[in-house]
Amino acid sequence: MPRRPTFAPDITETVTESIRDHREYLASGARCISHHSTDKEVVGRFSAVAEAVVEAELHIKFGQRYSKTTWSDEDTVQVAALAQCTGHGCTDPYHEVLTTDAFLLDADAAETAQAALPLVATVRSWAQKHAEVCRALPYDGR
Ligand SMILES: [Zn+2]
Repeated sequence: MPRRPTFAPDITETVTESIRDHREYLASGARCISHHSTDKEVVGRFSAVAEAVVEAELHIKFGQRYSKTTWSDEDTVQVAALAQCTGHGCTDPYHEVLTTDAFLLDADAAETAQAALPLVATVRSWAQKHAEVCRALPYDGR
């Protein structure tokens, strides 16, 4: 039987894997390549006082920008972190989206991942604090 992983993958792993996948996809020669896409990963889940869930999310955004040095489009990657509360009627459900600079897709993926770490720490800490005080109930369809 396959062993279930005990720990969630760390941020560096999540970001570098996502970048590797996107590079492979672009190199795959598929028919309709999309240079713009976003990978979303949950990087923290907290249970609020009334059991609504507060989640910290990582968005790995792939895009393009025009380079004036090479006169062509170059692929970029940017990482954003945000937190949101799913509580029904929560008065403060979102923490602002924090975004890194755009890095070249070909740049060192580990460095890009490194830049995301402080952002993730910030939204995780918001999520943790929010979970301690939020009394909104989970939405139950009523
Ligand atoms: Zn809330």
